[in-house]
Amino acid sequence: MVDSSQNPSWPEDEQLGSFLDRLGGGREDESGRLIDRLPVIVYASELGETGRWRYVSPQVEEILGFTPEEFLCDPGLWARQVHPDDRLHALAVESRDALGNRETAPIEYRMYTKSGRLVWMLDEAVLEPDGAGVPVWHGVLYDITERKTIEIDLQRALDQQAVVARLGGRALKNGDPEALMHDAVTLIGELDGVEAACIWEVGRDGRRLNLCAGLQDSRRGEGRRVSAGRESHAGAALDASIAVIVPDWSGDDRFTMPPAVRALGAASSLAVMIDGKDRPFGVLDVHSREPGRFGPKDVPFLEASANVLADAFERHAADRALRHRVLHDALTGLPNRLSFVDSVDDALGRASVSGSPVGILFLDLDHFKLINDSLGHHAGDALLRAVAPRLRSHLRPGDIVARFGGDEFGILIDRLADDAEAMAIAERVASAFAQPFSMQGVDHFVNASIGIAVARLADGRPTNAELLIRDADAAMYAAKESGRNRSVLFDAEMRASAQRRLQTERELRGAVERDELELRYQPIVNLRSGEVTGLEALVRWRHRERGLLDPVDFVSIAEDGGLIEPIGRWVQERAARQVLEWHELRPDARPLDVAINLSARQVSHRDLPATIAEVIARTGLDPVHLHLEITETVLVEESAAAIATLEALNELGVRLVLDDFGTGYSSLAYLSRFPFHALKIDRSFVDTLGVEQEGTAIVEAVIGMARALSLEVIAEGVEKQIQLDELVRLDCDYGQGHFFHEALRAEQISRLIEADALDYSGISSTR
Ligand code: C2E
Ligand code: MG
Ligand code: MG
Repeated sequence: MVDSSQNPSWPEDEQLGSFLDRLGGGREDESGRLIDRLPVIVYASELGETGRWRYVSPQVEEILGFTPEEFLCDPGLWARQVHPDDRLHALAVESRDALGNRETAPIEYRMYTKSGRLVWMLDEAVLEPDGAGVPVWHGVLYDITERKTIEIDLQRALDQQAVVARLGGRALKNGDPEALMHDAVTLIGELDGVEAACIWEVGRDGRRLNLCAGLQDSRRGEGRRVSAGRESHAGAALDASIAVIVPDWSGDDRFTMPPAVRALGAASSLAVMIDGKDRPFGVLDVHSREPGRFGPKDVPFLEASANVLADAFERHAADRALRHRVLHDALTGLPNRLSFVDSVDDALGRASVSGSPVGILFLDLDHFKLINDSLGHHAGDALLRAVAPRLRSHLRPGDIVARFGGDEFGILIDRLADDAEAMAIAERVASAFAQPFSMQGVDHFVNASIGIAVARLADGRPTNAELLIRDADAAMYAAKESGRNRSVLFDAEMRASAQRRLQTERELRGAVERDELELRYQPIVNLRSGEVTGLEALVRWRHRERGLLDPVDFVSIAEDGGLIEPIGRWVQERAARQVLEWHELRPDARPLDVAINLSARQVSHRDLPATIAEVIARTGLDPVHLHLEITETVLVEESAAAIATLEALNELGVRLVLDDFGTGYSSLAYLSRFPFHALKIDRSFVDTLGVEQEGTAIVEAVIGMARALSLEVIAEGVEKQIQLDELVRLDCDYGQGHFFHEALRAEQISRLIEADALDYSGISSTR
């Protein structure tokens, strides 16, 4: 604004025209020279767009390039030189209303100089009638270009700062790159003189830049791509990583104008790179219909905007990578259990609206450990990686496959019709294993056990992902129990038994401390002499309400709950001390062997040899009298670790017995890898002796095989004379079963010893 104190004051009582005439005319005059030297244009002109100019001071030539004469003889010149956008505003005051108004407000407008340069004018004038009553403007034109440029630059910088600040705010609030890019081009596009802003992303091949925000209405396809090379302005910004200014597209021979930008009618542009941590993301550019709209002063602003975007993209990428790591399994790339639980909960939420059941499959590979141990971990990993896509290809697109860890997979089946459909899908999934997996050039057939659980909202039972997974897990367990390679649907019975298991586990904690465990002993008879040479210790739990419980009711629960180790230690120590007491009790102090059972989990525990060594040391039992019975399935599931443990136990001098022989998968060659002293033929084979030809043949083969391996053979579950007869005929070493004795309490054994009635006397008659 112009300070009024600087205004030239007009002699009030004099006609301005004559005053100026006098000044202009009298060149010698002091004040005339003064006017000529003022950095302003003094003028007198008649009213209207083409009002005649009566006087204009010589500075007009310096400021506008036209001589005073050119002005005086061309009444339309002034209005023609005013910038078209400002003309209306400049001419608005050309009315008689201004007559005599000494307070007429000064106006600002742009004018073209004779050479075409644009200058800012401040026009301050009063309209007065001359002597003849003709209204004449007496005014002063100030060249305010410099001040105006500073003002405009300042305003532009403030507007730009505001855009960067708002963009920064949005970037913090919303991490979604799509939305942020849209915000950015909108905010920047609102700046004065900016027609559009665009964001270009470097394409996958690195050779193209694809338009991803801005110019929404421009044509699709080719028009939305530019080269990432130096032949495009954006490509050049990327290539040199410096800002590229195109002051005037019409005169630019460096770059090809992108069609999308041409469609906009852009005259000038500015482009900067959006950098990334590892590689540039792309380019941010702005376009104007004015030539020369962008200069070096605009670069910091656009770079600041690009930096805000770059930071936001970087953060988003890092978030995404982190999220992916947290929610996915690194080996297979499948969602992990955490993410599966989320998906199941979502599906259950949707089901509560739609009412359609949600199903889960819990899949566990059969004998995965065997592959891991025999072919190595790399082969195991390769198998898991190969299983993942197979499972997916046997499912519907919306179904989710996740890896829980190890060889366990979860499958979510959204929108089920009924249980039958869940079973059908499980069968389809199982068929994914019909083809062999090729590992290290060899085809391997792998099967899976699948547990199915279906959540039905009609049941009215509150359910969540964890409960549903637990149910499917229990069903999978049942599938394994009933022989593997099958699918089992979780049912009410399983639910009840799962709940009972949990209840039992709670009660089993502290059973040792509460002295609720007991041991029964079942004599083992030498089938040649009838002599009882040993006893198998069998654990029982005296439950406060349920009475005396057999191992089937609690041993596997103890294993799952991590309680088998303390129970095992108690059994071992009690049995060892007991058998030492009986040694004392026998008149000839003939030693008895004591057999103790070890479950799979106990064998896989690395402390087992140390624990056994401790029992031997504490009780003083000669280790040859300690027999450890290990069930055959342990070997299949844990072979590598099992070998090491069994070797360590063997070093202690104890005897190892392979229990339940025939129920597992051991082959002759397989057995020879382990340091066993004896094998116990499973009850199911003994049952068939003398009844079934085939069963008898198997027992015969087993005994023959054991002989070849120098293993002793024990037959368990001998209940009938005919079984005993057959065993004797086949030259089996030892027998055990109800036919001789049930599992007895320690006092009963002691009484038998005292009465010298422990041995079986019927053998000699059989022989
Ligand atoms: P197992 O080692 O095969 O033990 C033999 C099982 O057969 C015992 O059942 C025994 O009572 C039963 N039995 C013996 N003779 C006959 C017979 O003539 N006919 C029939 N039908 N059954 C007979 P129990 O005591 O219920 O033990 C079952 C399983 O529990 C055992 O099988 C063993 O694997 C496990 N177990 C027993 N005690 C312990 C222990 O202290 N620790 C561990 N980890 N497992 C144990
Ligand atoms: Mg046993
Ligand atoms: Mg057995």
